[in-house]
Parts: sequence; structure tokens; C-alpha cells
Amino acid sequence: MSAPSRPRLLVVGAGLAGASVAWHAAPVASVTVIEQGDHVLAEASAQNAGMLRRLVTNAHERALALRTQARLEEWQRDEHQDWRERPPVRRTGAVIALEHDSPRFAAAVADLRAAGVNVEEPAVAERARIAPALREARLARAYWLPDDGVCDAWSLGQGLLRGAARHGATLVTARRANGLLVRAGRVVGVSTERGEHEADLVVVCAGAWATALAASAGLVRPCVPRARHLFQSSPHPCAAGAHPWCWIDDAGLYLRPEAGGFLLSPCDETDEWPAPGPGSRRPPRDAARELLSEKLLRLLPALGELALASGWVGYRSFTPTREALFGPDPELPGLAWLVGLGGSGVSTCLALGEDTVRALGLG
Ligand SMILES: Cc1cc2nc3c(=O)[nH]c(=O)nc-3n(C[C@H](O)[C@H](O)[C@H](O)COP(=O)(O)OP(=O)(O)OC[C@H]3O[C@@H](n4cnc5c(N)ncnc54)[C@H](O)[C@@H]3O)c2cc1C
Repeated sequence: MSAPSRPRLLVVGAGLAGASVAWHAAPVASVTVIEQGDHVLAEASAQNAGMLRRLVTNAHERALALRTQARLEEWQRDEHQDWRERPPVRRTGAVIALEHDSPRFAAAVADLRAAGVNVEEPAVAERARIAPALREARLARAYWLPDDGVCDAWSLGQGLLRGAARHGATLVTARRANGLLVRAGRVVGVSTERGEHEADLVVVCAGAWATALAASAGLVRPCVPRARHLFQSSPHPCAAGAHPWCWIDDAGLYLRPEAGGFLLSPCDETDEWPAPGPGSRRPPRDAARELLSEKLLRLLPALGELALASGWVGYRSFTPTREALFGPDPELPGLAWLVGLGGSGVSTCLALGEDTVRALGLG
């Protein structure tokens, strides 16, 4: 008796979303990943701060982040074969703070504690010991999550693609999907400059470029890119020892220790489309640099004179509800999505990839 044939799955986009879908689907499907750029994991997945954040107000996002982090910890502990050489996670601890007092995180903190996550509320003097950058900071509240950390998105994504390849998945770079191929009311593949690529199922994981692909099949699936800046500072004494990443949530300011200094963002958010094709990273703008300097002076006196050495603009993509769109398209058979990972794609990509593949009836 011949073995049942595996469905041909075409994943469009090799960022964290596409890599996670490929990794979860490859054991049960014949997977091909096409990526428009010469390199994988080179767009939003290379532009992020890599903070694994679980203390978020959205309950669904929190559940996804809890599952993703549990998976990463398990793989780290068991030395999973796809990441043995380069484990992607580093535990730094995290401080999530509020400039003005509010119950914003009350439910989320209770939920995390119920899930066994250690969330403390250190006294003011203790905060500066945990995170020297917070010395003399006027913060109404600060939550300390000693088990949180950062993730090297590149090694996470490379491991996912390596694992997919182990199960026979094929990766094709420098291959752009120009449009979805629709025949008899069903998506049957994509068109590319090298001809048509047919598949039983197309999963669009195209990040900031997803809306255009939807439009090619007459669908309205808005996934709006929003530009955000990150700056790297020069080395700073506060970052000399171990330092957690810190996020002053209501003020919109975060930092993580990096290269002897800090990687920082003023949490700006501007709607704009990247140019067609790969290479969305942009040089920083003066307005964002000024915004960051102003926030540092006001909120973190210990870092007031921080020198910002370099920076870039990256694109986080959001659906109108700011929740990821995943699973089969509601209108068009043969089409599925994992897009709109917003500002939490590193923190949630494993759970979302798994849920996407499950929703397709493959997991
Ligand atoms: C400044 C910044 C800071 C961030 N910080 C964090 C953080 O600290 N923690 C966190 O959890 N998340 C963070 N994020 C979010 C996270 O990086 C994203 O959610 C995640 O990388 C999105 O992955 P993706 O695969 O959807 O998109 P991408 O990484 O952009 O991948 C999409 C891929 O699809 C390809 N593609 C697009 N169209 C086509 C086509 N037509 N044909 C073929 N290929 C195509 C693109 O070239 C690209 O490689 C941050 C993002 C930014 C920009």
C-alpha cells in the first residue's frame, strides 16, 4: 500500500513567522519556503530588540508568549538538536515599569503568578540594585521578572529553518511571490518572476508586504507596517555588569544591555509602507533621536548623558485589531496566514507557528 501523500505547503517569507510555520509543518507536509531577499531572517526579524516579554495586557498575546518561552526553556535544557550550537536565549531578567500609577498590569500579573511566573514588586531602593539604569528614576511602579530574558532572533530562526530542512523542507531565496494564483475559486500557488509555483496550500508569512499579496487575489487583509526606531548607545558604566532589560510601558521607553551599552527605543510608531522588495531597514531620523533623548532625561537621570552611537528604523506589522492573523483564510480556500505579529513576534512566534499549522489540520 502506498503511503498517503504529504500536502505541498508553500510558505511565503522566511522571517520568524515563516520559519516557525515551516518548522512545525515540515514533519507532516512537503514544505517549500520562498524568500524575496538574498538572505533569510533579514527584515523585521533582524531589526528587533529580542526581548521575550510575557507581562502584557492582552491575554491571548500573554498565553502565546508563555507557551513560546516554555518551549525555548525546554529546548535550552534538553539541548535541542536544532539549537545545540547556538542556544538562542539569554536570561537577563526584566523590569516593566509605569511612570504613572495605574492598574494596567494588575490582571496580567495575577495571571502570570497563577501560571508560576515569578513577578516581584521591589521597593524603590531595590530597583536600582536590580537595574542600575533605574537609579533616581521617578517611577510609580516597577515589576521585576527575574526569569525573563532576551532571544537572538537570528539563531532562533536559523534553528527553525535547520529543523524544517531536517524533515525535507526546501528553502529558495531571492524568489519573490508577485501574486497569489487563483483558479476556480481556490489559491493554487503563487506567481514569481521565474514562473508559477504551485502548491496545495499557500501560507503567507510576508510581514510588512502581506497586504499587497492579499490584494493580488482581491482580498482586503490589512496588515499595516509601523516604523519604530532602535538606537545603540556607546558603552556606559550602568551596563557594565549584569543588567535586565527595562521597559517603562506607559511612557514608551525601553532598553536592553548590549555591547557594553544599551539598545534603546523611544517606542515611536509611524504608519508607512516599506518599498517593494527586500531591504526595509532604514537609517534613523533626527526626530526619533530627539524623542529618545528627551525621554531619557525625564525618566532615567542615570542615563541622561548617554551617547547614541548608531540606530535604525524597523517595521512592525499590525492587523486592525493588533492581534496576529493566523490559520486558513476565511474566504479563499488554499490560502492561509501568519502575519501581523506586531511588536511581539520574537516572544510569540513558536506558539503562533504551532497554532497556524494546527488550524490547517496538519499539527
Ligand atoms: C524595532 C523593532 C523592535 C522589536 N522588538 C521586539 C522585541 O523586543 N520582542 C519581540 O517579541 N518582538 C519584537 N519585534 C517584533 C518582531 O521582530 C516581529 O514581530 C517579527 O520579526 C515579525 O516576523 P515576520 O516573519 O512576520 O516578519 P519579517 O521578519 O519581516 O519576515 C517577513 C519575510 O517575508 C519576506 N517577504 C515579504 N513579501 C514577500 C514576497 N512577496 N515573496 C517572498 N518573500 C516575501 C520578507 O522579505 C521577509 O523576510 C520588534 C520589531 C521591530 C521592527
